[in-house]
Amino acid sequence: MLGGTREFAATLPVAQLYFPSWERYETAMRSIIEREYYTNHGPLVRDLESRLEGFFGVQHVVTVTNATIGLYLVAQAMDLKGKVLMPGFTFIATAQAAILAGLDPVFCDVDRSSHQISPATAERALESGVVAAVGVNLWGGSCDVPAMESWASANGLPLFFDSAHGFGSERTEGKLGGFGSAEVFSFHATKIMSSAEGGCVCTNDAELAERIRNMRSNYGIRRPTPVPLTVNARLSEGQAAVALLNLADFEENRSHNEAIFDAYRASFAGVSGVALVEPDAVTRSNRSYVVVEVDEAAFGLSRDALWSVLRAEGARARRYFLPGVHRSTPFDDLYPQYVTSLPVTDDLCARVLQLPTGALVTAEDAARVGLLIQAAQSHAEGLACVG
Ligand SMILES: *Cc1c(COP(=O)(O)O)cnc(C)c1O
Repeated sequence: MLGGTREFAATLPVAQLYFPSWERYETAMRSIIEREYYTNHGPLVRDLESRLEGFFGVQHVVTVTNATIGLYLVAQAMDLKGKVLMPGFTFIATAQAAILAGLDPVFCDVDRSSHQISPATAERALESGVVAAVGVNLWGGSCDVPAMESWASANGLPLFFDSAHGFGSERTEGKLGGFGSAEVFSFHATKIMSSAEGGCVCTNDAELAERIRNMRSNYGIRRPTPVPLTVNARLSEGQAAVALLNLADFEENRSHNEAIFDAYRASFAGVSGVALVEPDAVTRSNRSYVVVEVDEAAFGLSRDALWSVLRAEGARARRYFLPGVHRSTPFDDLYPQYVTSLPVTDDLCARVLQLPTGALVTAEDAARVGLLIQAAQSHAEGLACVG
């Protein structure tokens, strides 16, 4: 940005993007081809589900084709009709799943310091017709789960969680996965647990699990369980094989992310106007998100200008979520009443920046990104025009 060569020759992404070695992948695929069993609840899917039940410490894990469909299945299996409360500060899939299930989203704001939904923000948005609430556990942290559970039960609302960011993160009460009526995780390639595409629903409710298992296949599997609609939401054996390899490597991937996070933390210690967001309310995070809040007045450059500088230098930072779901198509047109009702979400959407992390990034890279941010600050005057 100042006329030299760009800092990172190979672009640093904001995503886990971990894939096991070709040798391990090849062995797994060969075994599938030898068995000639490619999908429909095969041995690898069953093995994966039982290992995940052990990992999460929950009674039922139902793997699904992705987390969007997982959220849809949970809402459908609960036979919800009406409106569902959720934070506007989330990935668009949370709201898309509600629409797929025939529900209208009601967007609430989030807590300023934790970025998470809270009983106070949920309470402020509560309106007539709301029949359930979706908590979103962001940034490898979590909302105040017990407080949300008490708030929901005091209001007679079932509560489930979009925990797509939270695989392996731990609270004092236990790992994410066992809270609310159900929790949904994503195994998208960008997440710390990947099957390239995939996801799972965790629940301790045997009846709910049975309904979701039944809904996951077009003809159902156990006819006596009544469900509103069956679909195809299966994970294939190939995806399960990738998931099993990723599950085996989870602790290593988390440690890798922890080292990156620590390098960032050290590199921001003396920088004014860039605050690293510590994942909230967890005793141990999966550390798969490095999020900073940029305060333009203190830093000297806008968030967007810093974003442009980092990208030009090969560090592909992301302004996630921009815009908030309440301002995204088609929700802004369908539900205009929420467009201007979430001031904290709007403020966060204007300040938050995600920094590169994951398998393709090293702790040394993170330290260099930190130096880049310091350099951007010291040349703020010359760089101000890029924003
Ligand atoms: C990734 C993500 C999803 C969607 O997951 P898919 O498996 O891609 O459908 C939903 N919610 C949040 C918060 C996410 O980050």
